[in-house]
Amino acid sequence: MRAIKPQYLRRCAFSRHLSTGPLGQPQITPITSLLIANRGEIALRINKTANRLGIQTTTLYTDPDASSQHAACSPHAIGLGAPNGYLDGDRIVRLAKQHGIQALHPGYGFLSENPAFARRCEEEGIVFVGPPAQAMADMGDKARSKEIMIDAGVPCVPGYHGSDQGEMELLNHAKDVKFPILLKSVKGGGGKGMRIVMEEGEFLQQLKSARAEARASFGEGGEVMLVEKYIVRPRHVEVQVFADKHGNCVALGERDCSIQRRHQKILEESPAPNLDDVTRLDLWEKARTAALAVGYVGAGTVEFILDKDSGEFYFMEMNTRLQVEHPVSEMVTGTDLVEWQFRVAAGEKLPLTQKEIMERIQERGAAIEARIYAESPERGFLPDSGKLVHLATPEVDEDVRIDAGFVEGDTVTEAYDGMIAKLIVCGDDRETAIRKMELALRNYEVVGLSTNIEFLKRLCKSAAFIEGDVETGFIEKWKNELFSPIIVKAEVYVQAALGLLALSPASVGLPHGGSLGFGRDGVERRLFFKSLDALNEKEGEIIEVSIIQKDNQVFGAKITRGNEGPQIIENIVSSSTLSAGKATLATVFPETRIDTTVVQDANNDNKITIFQHGGKTELSLVSPRWYEKALGLKEATTSVAAPMPCKILKNEVKEGDKVVKGAPLVVIESMKMETVIRSPQDGVIKRLAHKEGDKCKAGTVLVVFEEDFAVE
Ligand code: ADP
Ligand code: ADP
Ligand code: MG
Repeated sequence: MRAIKPQYLRRCAFSRHLSTGPLGQPQITPITSLLIANRGEIALRINKTANRLGIQTTTLYTDPDASSQHAACSPHAIGLGAPNGYLDGDRIVRLAKQHGIQALHPGYGFLSENPAFARRCEEEGIVFVGPPAQAMADMGDKARSKEIMIDAGVPCVPGYHGSDQGEMELLNHAKDVKFPILLKSVKGGGGKGMRIVMEEGEFLQQLKSARAEARASFGEGGEVMLVEKYIVRPRHVEVQVFADKHGNCVALGERDCSIQRRHQKILEESPAPNLDDVTRLDLWEKARTAALAVGYVGAGTVEFILDKDSGEFYFMEMNTRLQVEHPVSEMVTGTDLVEWQFRVAAGEKLPLTQKEIMERIQERGAAIEARIYAESPERGFLPDSGKLVHLATPEVDEDVRIDAGFVEGDTVTEAYDGMIAKLIVCGDDRETAIRKMELALRNYEVVGLSTNIEFLKRLCKSAAFIEGDVETGFIEKWKNELFSPIIVKAEVYVQAALGLLALSPASVGLPHGGSLGFGRDGVERRLFFKSLDALNEKEGEIIEVSIIQKDNQVFGAKITRGNEGPQIIENIVSSSTLSAGKATLATVFPETRIDTTVVQDANNDNKITIFQHGGKTELSLVSPRWYEKALGLKEATTSVAAPMPCKILKNEVKEGDKVVKGAPLVVIESMKMETVIRSPQDGVIKRLAHKEGDKCKAGTVLVVFEEDFAVE
């Protein structure tokens, strides 16, 4: 990565004098105190720049966030009580006034795109670090914004954006647009309230479902839908724009955010791969036109959908805020966009011209961001929550950045979005950036809840991704490759056994000892592990590992898996360092040296996580007695349990119903998302354990089958 040229830095540092424009131009009032009206990584991110600029900050926290990192990062922090406290705009404005705070940064999500809130701030004399309320209102409604864009000459996806909202009327409009179509809430955001409708027959059901979700997420008015032509092979390409109060507006390059699940982004990068310069510059130009058409000020993102089949692009929406993925643009332009936000809010001119930005982009290579989510891609991206029992992160430097809201020991609550961190890397070119991303991910270790880290590593190794052949259906298209079975090497099991013997000899029937070494008595220590990895071809398989200590730090191992004959490894030389629940092993096998971390979760004694060679393996320790009992026993399912803490939205079946494998049983809501629980088998419903609206803990039985029908 080339360094930023000194003249650019000088230009940034002294940009203040640029703003002393002719009479009548906005006064410059620097921001000195700030209320950060958000949580998690974005609150910490904003705080960081504010600190650097000498701005006094105050943060907010709710009960579940009382001991969070963001609450602790500022000299003042105010408690809001219940989890939805971050949405109480009136109260937040009152608090800002009461504490004499001059400005407010809304981050993203929550109040960031709420024009009424921005207006309240304006009226109360609090500087809202964001666009004017009117620009936000114009862009906040997906139907209205499209009308404005069409007038300004910005191309939009063909569709219906009008006020006919009757079910049959919308169906007729859908027929005019021609199936497949996409239903979207005019108030949509974060991929919610959206449904693809492939054909007429499923239209009404999808409309109802989209409306229910949109009303739940966006409240009154969320049920107003627009109908858009569904682009079958789209790319999501967006442009970061910035405008000041002096009428200047620049594009800070584009980002490709096509790698998505449930219409939510997972990987974002800049520049967009395989995009010709004519199209890129046209996108920048159209994005600036869009921003100028609504009198925009501040940071914004204009999202486009690019049809891979026709090469055409269309305006999708404008996000009138700083976005999750802004760091990739910061990396390729060498800027701090939060600093720009403060400067623009203070009345200054933009620190760089379009030409200067262009020069920087040409010099600075490629950047890519991975969103680390608390979820299990291997189990249909099911959200998770829990305590971060173990957290190790890659080293950060100029080219590797982590924006995180959590540290080891913190709890990720199901009350909020499951994004726990972002990892952003840059390199001289795209391939280098992807390779560096994969290396960094290999050093990102989390125990205590499921994450998408292993999945992200597989994405970074996918040939199609490396070639830049991206589209929003990428994960679906390459699912066989991305979810292909993993093979766990015997050494992993040996390390698990050695780690466990060192860590908790008692749990495997040994007297407690300090470091690795449990007596050269020639006695075999037998451990039984059950594989927990969803992608393991033999999930649930029992692996027996016998260890004999031969000498000081010298061991022999025998590994038996299923019907395969045992594998013997002699002359293993291993030493360990222990800390609460963790063993770090340096082991020399006859043919290789392996460093491994073995983590035993204190809340779940039997669960062992092994990090080795940049990969993660999850096992549970089972007792020999359990193992013998389980031998030959086939597990028959007589019930279906809640996979996570949730609320029952809808029971799709009645008692006595006959169902086939895959049929929807119950719709639940967890972490603000709907999930359909499907039948694991053909069967007959004996009992529904909960009614709609009930709240359930993970593991609660939801549906019981008639036993006679509980086959395989
Ligand atoms: P996008 O997917 O459009 O880029 P982001 O990912 O930047 O949006 O959204 C930031 C966060 O805010 C996400 O957690 C998203 O779920 C949430 N979010 C986005 N828009 C809204 C909205 N209008 N209301 C509530 N939450 C939102
Ligand atoms: P949100 O406000 O929830 O971010 P968007 O309108 O930005 O909603 O769309 C989110 C995602 O949905 C896009 O990134 C894209 O993957 C997909 N999408 C949106 N519109 C279309 C369309 N007309 N055809 C196909 N996919 C679309
Ligand atoms: Mg969007």
